[in-house]
Amino acid sequence: MRVGLIGLGAMGQGMARNLAKAGYLTAVYNRTFSKAEALAAELQIQACETIEQLAGQVDVVLICVSADKDVLMVVDAVAKTVRPGSVVVDMSTVSSETAIVAAQKLAEKNAAFLDAPVSGGVEGANKGTLAMMVGGSAQTLERIRPVLAAMTARIEHLGDVGAGQACKAVNQIMCAGINQAVTEALAFAEAQGLPMDKVIEVVSGGAAGNWFLQHRGKTMTQHQFPPGFKLALHHKDLKIAQHMAQHAGVGCPLTIATLADYAKLMAKGYGDEDISALYRLKQKRSSN
Ligand code: NAP
Repeated sequence: MRVGLIGLGAMGQGMARNLAKAGYLTAVYNRTFSKAEALAAELQIQACETIEQLAGQVDVVLICVSADKDVLMVVDAVAKTVRPGSVVVDMSTVSSETAIVAAQKLAEKNAAFLDAPVSGGVEGANKGTLAMMVGGSAQTLERIRPVLAAMTARIEHLGDVGAGQACKAVNQIMCAGINQAVTEALAFAEAQGLPMDKVIEVVSGGAAGNWFLQHRGKTMTQHQFPPGFKLALHHKDLKIAQHMAQHAGVGCPLTIATLADYAKLMAKGYGDEDISALYRLKQKRSSN
């Protein structure tokens, strides 16, 4: 199976390396071509100058770009040359509606589509331990499961096209609450004058322990917020979740509060920092 990957950002780079290690990756495309050239040289594969060139020569097209409009632009280009019978998998975090539109565009070209957003951060992408939430045909998933397994520790099929993105929205709502809880608790710990490294170690080992505390606790209390997961991207995801919650008639107060906090930070120019930059708003003498 020949596999091409479109989008070599923070997530795509690690995904590409793991796909190449498993022997699947034959071509990459990135909007900023220099990134594709550098990675292709490292992995001894092809750097494509256009999406059409990549889509025309592989059996599986993987996409990992930023937002809904980007996915739809990429899918339009893929649809121009995609080979009938091939599979297109979008691993970006976008709305279920976008997934359904993408699937329709590709079905017209006899190509299958899966929405397969991931969780696990840049660390998970680099280590090949992502959790993947898949919507679309279960048969199609089984056909290409070995490819997806090269990037993941867990793959779950949730239902029809769009169900993967709906599950990812669940994940993003939960991440918002965890970010609020961890940043607020650590700012409190700092205000108590506690030794922060020890607090993070001992709390991580108990009932309140979690991925975010373990991976971002130390850096945030040192006032370092390198991405990671860009705050502006989580803001984009929470907008999607808010829209879906309204549509479904369920409340989402934590999501709304986090959107407001992120908007404040983005207005101050922190949108490209990690989501742990929420700590800036929680500190006693805020230096945000
Ligand atoms: P990123 O570092 O900002 O990279 C975005 C990538 O998308 C870049 O390669 C960019 O190309 C490309 N791109 C953006 N718009 C494009 C367009 N219109 N046409 C073609 N390429 C385009 O983002 P990331 O962190 O890798 O995240 C990618 C996706 O995964 C997002 O949907 C995000 O929500 C999701 N995600 C991220 C994380 C995380 O922890 N970072 C975790 C799970 C899921 P250029 O290089 O030219 O800018």
